[in-house]
Amino acid sequence: MPATLTSSEIKGLSEQEIRHLIHELQVHQIELQTQNEELRRAQEDLRLSEQRYRDLFEQAPVGYIVLDYEGVIYQTNRRAVELLAREMTTDLRKRVLHSFCTPDAGDQLYRHLRRLSKGLDQDRCELNLSHRGEEIVLLLETKRVAGGEGPLRTALIDLTEQKRAESNLQLAAIVFEHAAEGIMVTDAEQKIISINRAFTSITGYDTHEVIGRKPDLLSSGRHSHWFFQEMWRKIRQHGRWEGEIWNNRKNGEVYPEHLSIICIRNNDGRITHYVGVFYDTSGQEFARRQLHRLAYYDELTGLPNRALCLDRLETALKRCHREGTGLALLFLDLDRFKHVNDALGHNIGDKLLEFSANLIRQCVRESDTVSRLGGDEFTVILNDLERHEEAALVAEKILNAFRITPFHYTGGELVVAASIGIGLYPRDADNVDNLLRCADIAMYRAKDTGRNDYQFYADEMSARFETRLAMETDLRRAEENRELRMVYQPCIDLETGRIMGAEALMRWRSPRWGEVDPAVFIPLAEETGLITPLAQWGLSAVSTQAASWSALGIRLSINLSGLKLKQLLEGDLFARIISQWSGSMCPIELELTETVLMEYRERLDEGLNNAKQLGITIAVDDFGTGYSSLSYLKQFPIDCLKIDSSFVRDVEQDPNDAAIAATIIAMARTLDLRVVAEGVETDGQHRFLKEQGCDEAQGFLFSPPLEVEEFERFFSARHQQSS
Ligand code: C2E
Ligand code: MG
Ligand code: MG
Repeated sequence: MPATLTSSEIKGLSEQEIRHLIHELQVHQIELQTQNEELRRAQEDLRLSEQRYRDLFEQAPVGYIVLDYEGVIYQTNRRAVELLAREMTTDLRKRVLHSFCTPDAGDQLYRHLRRLSKGLDQDRCELNLSHRGEEIVLLLETKRVAGGEGPLRTALIDLTEQKRAESNLQLAAIVFEHAAEGIMVTDAEQKIISINRAFTSITGYDTHEVIGRKPDLLSSGRHSHWFFQEMWRKIRQHGRWEGEIWNNRKNGEVYPEHLSIICIRNNDGRITHYVGVFYDTSGQEFARRQLHRLAYYDELTGLPNRALCLDRLETALKRCHREGTGLALLFLDLDRFKHVNDALGHNIGDKLLEFSANLIRQCVRESDTVSRLGGDEFTVILNDLERHEEAALVAEKILNAFRITPFHYTGGELVVAASIGIGLYPRDADNVDNLLRCADIAMYRAKDTGRNDYQFYADEMSARFETRLAMETDLRRAEENRELRMVYQPCIDLETGRIMGAEALMRWRSPRWGEVDPAVFIPLAEETGLITPLAQWGLSAVSTQAASWSALGIRLSINLSGLKLKQLLEGDLFARIISQWSGSMCPIELELTETVLMEYRERLDEGLNNAKQLGITIAVDDFGTGYSSLSYLKQFPIDCLKIDSSFVRDVEQDPNDAAIAATIIAMARTLDLRVVAEGVETDGQHRFLKEQGCDEAQGFLFSPPLEVEEFERFFSARHQQSS
């Protein structure tokens, strides 16, 4: 259809053509309307997006400015105003950006704009601005808009905080590196991750030698593990610890340092690092004090040590001499401390010593000196003594304090006992050495007479002491001089009356001392270390006997109870036993005490098992006098229990002893052990034991220990009797 029609043309149209025309017009109109609507919507969209852009621009966290190449500002958003002018109300339009800059920054800005005007499409620069004395750092990122014809658009980013943090870090790094104090940083596992120069110059260790290692590489060994446990406890609890410690330089030199340790936690409260800062204090007053402390005080208990004790005693004796006054020296030794230490461990042993030190201190006056000489030995110097009884009272007070104050440890409590010897000035001695010796001898006497007691020194003790020394000298030569021999005590089957075995008992006949009681020379040998050669001699004597008595078909027992286990293992004793014994001899049984078994549980096992493999059997001697614990007995390859004679003696009169003996027998039976009663002297005892089901017995009722020939006679007599 043509685009326009004249009225005459319209008139010439047919009705149908006109209707068609109208329809076309209507369609056209609708199209127009639709186009209009779209246009309107596009305009609205544009408006909205412009608005959105304006909002974004306005609210952006980054500052935006529009400016020209001269730095004249045309438009800003809020953040830009805030960054540049610090006042929201200020209108920055028409102002020059340079006016906000320090002179240096102005030059920078000038060069930045120059680069853009020379044709760069975009460029950055950092500017230092100052606002009323406060310096801020901005990063400018400028772009040319509309191909260089239009203005520039600049984003302003605030770098102030970042710069400050960076420079703080740099500062910290410089401080760390150049600090006069040694610094080490460890991770949560206490592995060193960083050290500074002073660390190296103080300790001698370079970075590569310590990274990844633990700070204990510096340990001097002068502090107990308690010290460190306590230190770490404080750090974990309070976040820090500070104090003086002794460390070891790489060259081995020990030096004092003042150390503070802090722990660093993350947001969850988990420890991430430890930082230790220390300085070397050798040469300082502290070091002198510490050296003095170390030289004169005991680290564990804080008491004066032996050196200071002797020093004080010397001074006190001089004063006594001048003023004509008296003095007592108490020498105290804890009873069975070694057992506690071995059985409960050294930690508890240490605690027990601290406990004892405090207890003793509480029993004496301020003016009296309590010292720890070493191990479990303590001394007390009692000044201004008027009567000897005063010393006895103090000793009693101390013993009583131990009696009524149990020592508590994790896992139990324990009543500690002690033995005290008392030496008096001027009665017993008038110089330090002698007084100490007297108190020491008296202490041994207290131990001898049953422990948990005190004793004054008496002259006859000194005589005893000298006798002991002389006897020791003789005992040393006893083997060489053929003064030793073995006697044999028969062991009888209670059911049949047959001789099942014999216990070899050692005898020493000395030209000077006559027949010496084993109760005297065996303990003497134990204390002086002579027990090992004696045991070796005993063993070969018994082996020889076992070979010559092989036809008797009896078991020979030998006592190893007197030995310290250390001697047993170190002297190759088990190896010797094994090499000397052959299958054609009488079977051999080793008698050990519970104490020996108990003390060295782990190490003994191996030796015992070796012996067992050869058919050598093991008996527990003097059973009932030690721990008498079933549970540990089960751990050992034991064959026999020997009930100590002290329980046998009164089985007829004392229901307690009867009960103990009966229990031991029952216990042995459940464990499938042979049970032998020692020291059977009466028919009554014999009957009781037999009724209880005891297997065998030894004792004067049957026979005392016999010389070899006597034993052989006794054997054939019995043998004929029973066959
Ligand atoms: P033990 O091993 O318990 O030996 C038993 C002790 O009881 C022996 O004393 C023995 O003579 C004594 N005895 C035997 N029957 C009776 C009795 O019916 N009544 C009384 N009251 N006593 C009786 P002995 O020979 O004086 O030995 C004492 C301790 O010396 C022994 O006790 C043992 O521990 C130790 N001993 C003896 N010989 C040796 C040895 O060769 N080596 C080691 N290491 N210790 C030995
Ligand atoms: Mg025995
Ligand atoms: Mg015995």
